[in-house]
Amino acid sequence: MTERWRGNHWIHYCLVIAGVLVLVFSWLRNPGMIRSGFYTIFREGSRIALDFKHREQQLMESEHFRVRYEERDAEAAALVLAIAEEIYDPINQNLGYEPNRKVPIIMYPTNDSLTGSFGWPADEGALGVYWVGTIRILSPSVWATSDEGKIDPEIFRTTGPISHEYTHYVIDYLTGGNYPRWFTEGVAQWEEKKLTGFAFSNPFTELYQQNCRPSQQRFTPKSNAKPKGQEWQEWIYQELYPLIEMDAGFDYLPNQMLAYWESLMVVKYINTVYGSECLSQIIKCLSQGKPINQALKQATGADLAQFDADFRVWAADQAARESIARNN
Ligand SMILES: [Zn+2]
Repeated sequence: MTERWRGNHWIHYCLVIAGVLVLVFSWLRNPGMIRSGFYTIFREGSRIALDFKHREQQLMESEHFRVRYEERDAEAAALVLAIAEEIYDPINQNLGYEPNRKVPIIMYPTNDSLTGSFGWPADEGALGVYWVGTIRILSPSVWATSDEGKIDPEIFRTTGPISHEYTHYVIDYLTGGNYPRWFTEGVAQWEEKKLTGFAFSNPFTELYQQNCRPSQQRFTPKSNAKPKGQEWQEWIYQELYPLIEMDAGFDYLPNQMLAYWESLMVVKYINTVYGSECLSQIIKCLSQGKPINQALKQATGADLAQFDADFRVWAADQAARESIARNN
């Protein structure tokens, strides 16, 4: 009996050591997958904790979403669920994903309560934010209203944050959190544009119209002549953020409008130059724990540095052509 017990104990030690070795080897082979595993635990824990924190609030559910809200916001909650259901299938089909549980939404009654939930300053305006497993939105009763002060469903449908934030949710779950910030912002705006028609406009069009360089200096004082296509394109190229900079400190980039517009342009570039299948392939590589450099290399043949340089030449050309055409 004792010998058998000792034998079992020895087998247990071997199994633990083998388990540790498997973990170490899989980390060495694919550190991204292990990182994603830890992130998934953190995300699911955060999602459950946030839901528990809001357990006293009202709860309304649809087939695929559940929204927590203040009692006075029942009409807004019903609208949020209706719009969320409208965008659910198209985004899932475009990105190849189907959540295995109802997607949680927390609806905040005021701007202060939404920004305060992140500890952001009150003047930080946001209609919606996706963060670790939950979509947080500002109630449409605050901002999507008609002149009479009633909620206008059409304003919420066309300018609301649901399609954008739900795309962030899908990208996060598809890739286990393994994506650069410019990528998820680009895909979210791409889907949003397809579904609602909303997108930030090319920031260089207005600068060109005002006779300004991207750096806000006026064009040549001698003649005040607008630069020719090539020259204008080079100015724009200098102004665009390198993708590596857009990943590390996206929120701290001084020109946020440019950062968002450029993110959208990256996804447009991938779709235009490489085709929509390429975007799916990048997402697939990210979901396998591969870093973005490797994902781009596999899907486009160019590494991050080459992709970035080619993209900025393309984007500067597009922006220059568009801004000159709009002003002629
Ligand atoms: Zn976003």
